[in-house]
Amino acid sequence: MNLLSKKFLLFIIIIEIVFSSIFGMYIYNEESSQIKSKFKKDVDDKISILDMELLLKNEALYSLRGVFDNSDLVTYPEFKSFSKQILERHHSIKALEWAPKIVDDERQFYEALLKKDFPLFEITQIDTKSEKLIKREISSYYYPILYLEPIKGNKNALGFDLASESVRLKVLEQSAQKNSLLSTSLIDLVQNDHSKKGFLSVLPVYEKKSLTEKSRLKNVLGFVIAVFDVEPLITNAIHKTHTDGINFIIYDITDGKNELIYKTPNKDVKQKDSYKYEKILKKYDGRIWKIVAYPTEKYVSERRTVLPSMIILISVIFILFTTFYINLIIQRNKQVERKVQQRTKELNKANEKLKEISRTDSLTNIANRRFFNEVIHTEWYRAIREKTTISLMLIDVDYFKLFNDKYGHIQGDDCLKKVAMCLKTSLNRSSDFLARYGGEEFVVILPNTNDANIVAQACRKNIENLKIEHELSEVSKYVTISIGITSISPNVNSSLTNFINQADKALYEAKAKGRNCISIV
Ligand code: GH3
Ligand code: MG
Ligand code: MG
Repeated sequence: MNLLSKKFLLFIIIIEIVFSSIFGMYIYNEESSQIKSKFKKDVDDKISILDMELLLKNEALYSLRGVFDNSDLVTYPEFKSFSKQILERHHSIKALEWAPKIVDDERQFYEALLKKDFPLFEITQIDTKSEKLIKREISSYYYPILYLEPIKGNKNALGFDLASESVRLKVLEQSAQKNSLLSTSLIDLVQNDHSKKGFLSVLPVYEKKSLTEKSRLKNVLGFVIAVFDVEPLITNAIHKTHTDGINFIIYDITDGKNELIYKTPNKDVKQKDSYKYEKILKKYDGRIWKIVAYPTEKYVSERRTVLPSMIILISVIFILFTTFYINLIIQRNKQVERKVQQRTKELNKANEKLKEISRTDSLTNIANRRFFNEVIHTEWYRAIREKTTISLMLIDVDYFKLFNDKYGHIQGDDCLKKVAMCLKTSLNRSSDFLARYGGEEFVVILPNTNDANIVAQACRKNIENLKIEHELSEVSKYVTISIGITSISPNVNSSLTNFINQADKALYEAKAKGRNCISIV
């Protein structure tokens, strides 16, 4: 029962653990996928704002181009005032620029013109060694930045020839050929003292309308340009929705390589890589951006509920309770078992005692008639099996009625006790068995004995030698006994009753012979 309940307990615990773990895991995974889709939605929200921001900035360039399309000569003050209005609407634009196409013949004229307002003005290029701006070497044509708004923070860019640098030149010419708004990849902006990266979006302005790419390039008057710092552009867009805890990495993958454009600058915040979400933005201005987003651990943990841990906690409590309860039952069972064992022991002891009492004669404390019956059967069949001789002595106290009459019953009892003790000490072998046969009669079983006569003689003599006074006895002054003996080597056909009767007969003969003697049948 104990073992069974322990196994059952173990089984319950294992089943409980397995089921609660599975359930806890299920809930946890459900939650994870919900958080994942919520995260995707949050990222998509931010991306759509970024998308919009990127599109909106084009509006700035188109309206600036409108100024050049509608006027033969746009003066610097006109450019300045119009640009100011645009910049007020578009905070992500760092600067607006006008870069006309200038052939080498016109270079001096323009440099002289601009020197009126900016005495140090000259057309420049980047020195490949020192990476500083130097005077532009002679070329057949230039795209120098002539107009710039705001000047503050961008002054370095004034006069910089966009045709002097390959990335910029390529974008300008493609833009001119296709008559479309194009953006550069991420470049080091010349106006930046610290190498802050940014990009340019350019839109061509033509002298006259033309259809082929070649003629468009030929007819281009110049370009309106918007300069962007990447970081403010992206952070502005990203922070327009109020969801925190999203780390962005943005790559420009236009040319088949992952060029890092932006990375959320919180290096110390742990992010959950398993929730990574990737999305490629639709192509705009000729560039393709890929966005990789990760939630921070905080983002995930804020959206987790306590349900999975509650399930596990409740299960643990349940397991502990079950274990405790079943253990209590087991302990109780053990206690009951111990008690039962103790009671059984006591009962066995009592039974033993009872058995002994039921086999003992209460007056003389030797075996009684019932016990004799048991033993005689055992010894009888043993003698048959082992083919040995068994002897039986029946002993009777002589004239005992008269003894009682003379000395009283109490003395009579005392006498019987003494006789019993004396007979007991007269037997030598442990297998010899003495019992009170009834009244003042005793019986002795002598297994494996031929010469019972010797034992009988010793008994008779020892009793006489007790010298218990018996005035009324007709054979002696003292108490005496008469003994009938019989011996047999019994076989299966022999009768035990006959055997006992023979002993009885022998005793009768001893009495008849005059008492205080032995008779053998
Ligand atoms: P006999 O020599 O022929 O055996 O004569 P007897 O008087 O001994 O024999 P009888 O059978 O006539 O008497 C037996 C007496 O033993 C009768 C009874 O009073 C006495 N007796 C039997 N059992 C007890 C006992 O437990 N205590 C006492 N005190 N006397 C007993
Ligand atoms: Mg008698
Ligand atoms: Mg007698």
